[in-house]
Amino acid sequence: MENLIILGAGVSGWTAAIYAGRAELKPLVFTGIEEGGQLMLTTTVENFPGFSDGILGPTLMQEMKKQSEKFGAKVIQKEVTGFKKIKEGYEITAGKEKYSVKAVIISTGASARWLGLPEEKKFQGRGLHTCATCDGFFYKDKEIFVVGGGDSACEEANFLTKFAKTVTIVHRRDELKASKIMQEKVKSNPKIKFLWNSEIVKLVGEAPLKTVTIKNTKTEKTKDYKIDGVFLAIGHVPNVKIFEGIIKFDEYGFIKTDERRRTNLPGVFAAGDVQDHIYKQAITAAGTGCEAAIEAEKYLAEIGN
Ligand code: NDP
Repeated sequence: MENLIILGAGVSGWTAAIYAGRAELKPLVFTGIEEGGQLMLTTTVENFPGFSDGILGPTLMQEMKKQSEKFGAKVIQKEVTGFKKIKEGYEITAGKEKYSVKAVIISTGASARWLGLPEEKKFQGRGLHTCATCDGFFYKDKEIFVVGGGDSACEEANFLTKFAKTVTIVHRRDELKASKIMQEKVKSNPKIKFLWNSEIVKLVGEAPLKTVTIKNTKTEKTKDYKIDGVFLAIGHVPNVKIFEGIIKFDEYGFIKTDERRRTNLPGVFAAGDVQDHIYKQAITAAGTGCEAAIEAEKYLAEIGN
């Protein structure tokens, strides 16, 4: 039986692995299909303390992984498909393998939110994207839309101006939700335009995407726009599918934890974006990963590990 399994290998998962490794718990880290989490989809991270010139997201993740392995974490590149309570602890399924474990840290993160339009699937990756750093390159000298009004939308829009001819931020209200500094950046960028009170209600035709129907949220009038590509930056949804019905969620669908990162199940902790709908920062994910690992260590000691 394993001591501790960490589900997910983003900032919170790796931080938990470093702490648990140093506590000699020999944690297993299941990376899932998105090893490195959301920082793999960013360029320079400027607000992670300790890097005055910024650090590339993927580089930071690579360093955290190395640090975890240095302290004895075992990395398993598999997606976990099942989680259940058993008499002595928990059982984790990954492919055909099953693992019994005494304590678990859930750090499965959150994934990009899609619009929820019925025709959306056929355009995914074919004119409709959720990651500017991954797909922006394909839009050299093109005209694109970025949907959303938060920091992500502004960051993506700014980044996309490196390639695109014009970037139009399509937002459902008439003011941005983003922080002041981000607002200033997009408003002063000559390549960025705005479509206020606007919502995409239809993706028209066959892939690749060429036309979208936009509804004005004030007048309810609709209009078709010719466009080369659309990038969505409308927030994230937590990756919690395998825990449905077993672990309690908060009103926003994120895992509910107390101030000690405990879930409703003994020995099961959660850290990072999967349990945080407020801050969602790399540094807060690291903080909660640390907390979860310290609590897991205490829990294991209490049950006589
Ligand atoms: P947010 O939740 O902050 O913003 C989401 C935006 O998308 C909102 O403007 C929202 O509209 C809009 N939206 C949500 N659902 C829909 C929908 N179905 N259709 C159309 N529009 C929709 O998410 P972000 O990803 O921007 O940011 C998350 C967190 O990460 C924040 O705390 C942010 O500060 C942080 N962040 C920080 C960065 C940095 O510091 N460099 C970079 C990126 C993110 P409405 O405004 O009407 O609610």
